[in-house]
Amino acid sequence: MSNDTLIEKLSAERNLSDGELKELLDSKESDQSLFAAADRKRREIYGDEVYLRGLIEFTNHCRNNCYYCGIRCGNKSAERYRLGKEDILACCDEGYRLGFRTFVLQGGEDPFFTDDKICDIVYAIRSRFPDCAITLSVGEKSKESYKSFFDAGANRYLLRHETASEEHYRRLHPENMSLANRKRCLFDLKEIGYQVGSGFMVGSPYQTTDNLIEDLRFLQSLKPDMIGIGPYITHEQTPFSSFTNGGVELTLRLISVLRLMFPYALIPSTTALGTLHPQGRELGLKAGANVVMPNLSPVEVRKLYSLYENKICTGEEAAQCRGCLERRISEAGYKAVTAIGNVKKEQKR
Ligand code: SAH
Repeated sequence: MSNDTLIEKLSAERNLSDGELKELLDSKESDQSLFAAADRKRREIYGDEVYLRGLIEFTNHCRNNCYYCGIRCGNKSAERYRLGKEDILACCDEGYRLGFRTFVLQGGEDPFFTDDKICDIVYAIRSRFPDCAITLSVGEKSKESYKSFFDAGANRYLLRHETASEEHYRRLHPENMSLANRKRCLFDLKEIGYQVGSGFMVGSPYQTTDNLIEDLRFLQSLKPDMIGIGPYITHEQTPFSSFTNGGVELTLRLISVLRLMFPYALIPSTTALGTLHPQGRELGLKAGANVVMPNLSPVEVRKLYSLYENKICTGEEAAQCRGCLERRISEAGYKAVTAIGNVKKEQKR
């Protein structure tokens, strides 16, 4: 089948076979028509609106040792920090003033932040900003912990599955972590009632196209509300320091395929994409993404949340970021909106 026929089939919301997906992902000749089809689909559902999420990276302490990540516990040269509750609330105040109606609290798996502490912070944000969504991204926890965060007022949770292949998962993570637990977490989060986001890195070490197809199939079984992907970017202080970065083109192609396979999904155009290409985030939007997540963390700590090298937007105040992004979004042909930005409809069952 020609790529154009495959794109038409995907646009009509018909399932592609593994072979067909592979054909589409492995060739770049129809990228422009693929991006255009994804953009049509996103405009059908979300118009030209781009939702902004204020990202607060509140701790870079982590008990895990993922081989790709710069804040892994094995990186002894990382300078560690934590924000206190009042710092976090101050970020939210500033974010609210700038028009953000979603706060994303992301961090390493930091044992200092016990369930009680997280609940206390979430509850404080919930009380002060009843009209905002609170998104957590703090890794793998028990179902009881997730439930207590939810009851304290959190509505959304981001936890990328990273890779849906057992074999690939083993090459990216140490023995004490498991794909089965990652998946368990994602299904628990859904059951509790969170809007759930998952996703993966593109071009991570040892990744094959078959792995990417497994990722898409896993997402079809999870039916997440949000799907975050970004290129893998190397970091000096990891065992993967000699691997090359993931590809921008392949990431864009995957954003488009995701938009066509999951028309209602909230898909961010990520900072990692913006790091590898000066117009990366604009290109991501044009390929079907509809969310951006500017950084609200205090400038003093921005550089320390270093998952990968050369991360952008680490030197600017939140207000500058907001202005810069708004301009970029409108130059790309879209509109940044101040809205809570919930998913428009559940994915088909
Ligand atoms: N501890 C939280 C947050 C992790 S950081 C959790 O486990 O969910 C958020 C995401 O950054 C990760 O899910 C991973 O996909 C991505 N990431 C980590 N290292 C990266 C790297 N070197 N290049 C690109 N993305 C990376």
